[in-house]
Amino acid sequence: MALMNTILQDLHIHTVYSVGDSAVVPQMTIDFIASIGHAGIRGISDHFEYLQGEIFESYCRDVRTHGFYLGCEINTGEETREAVEYPYDYFIYHCRDRASEYRGAEFLLSTGKPVIISHPMAMGADLSRVPRECFIEINNRYVWRGDYRSYFTPWIGEFNFVFGSDAHQPNWLNQTIARHAGEELGIEESILFPKLTPAAIR
Ligand SMILES: [Zn+2]
Ligand SMILES: [Zn+2]
Repeated sequence: MALMNTILQDLHIHTVYSVGDSAVVPQMTIDFIASIGHAGIRGISDHFEYLQGEIFESYCRDVRTHGFYLGCEINTGEETREAVEYPYDYFIYHCRDRASEYRGAEFLLSTGKPVIISHPMAMGADLSRVPRECFIEINNRYVWRGDYRSYFTPWIGEFNFVFGSDAHQPNWLNQTIARHAGEELGIEESILFPKLTPAAIR
């Protein structure tokens, strides 16, 4: 039996499709994550660099048949050029403090799909240069590592925010720390998609 969903939405989850990410364990299959039911609205967001070419078809099918939204995590501004060619529902984006990376965010937004800036504090993103249409992630893996109060406080009310687990291992399938930080900061989360009902699953 799946858990009662206490988390509304988790769009930042890694699976064994992130083959080159050494933090991912073999137990993180899409089947396994589906069986846990830790959040109501879920998206899989493996690293884009491992999803190009033929493997994309299996990734896409696997993600969709299990009732997840189809995402990916993009590492550089350059990768955005290729990523927009694929039918992702949304993008998770590493925005470093470089002009080319802020341009990458603009480019992703031009698709009209949601763009989530993942763990911006850990990437060193200057939020004053991030387009306001992006969603800012409060990330469970990284948020506690820095002074999140100073980093995020000036931007509350400027951006819309989401919470993400950034799970790479089964026991990371939660947002406990991110939600604690969010509560302290007075952040209200944005819900990006409707909950997928079995009938809606393609
Ligand atoms: Zn990341
Ligand atoms: Zn990630």
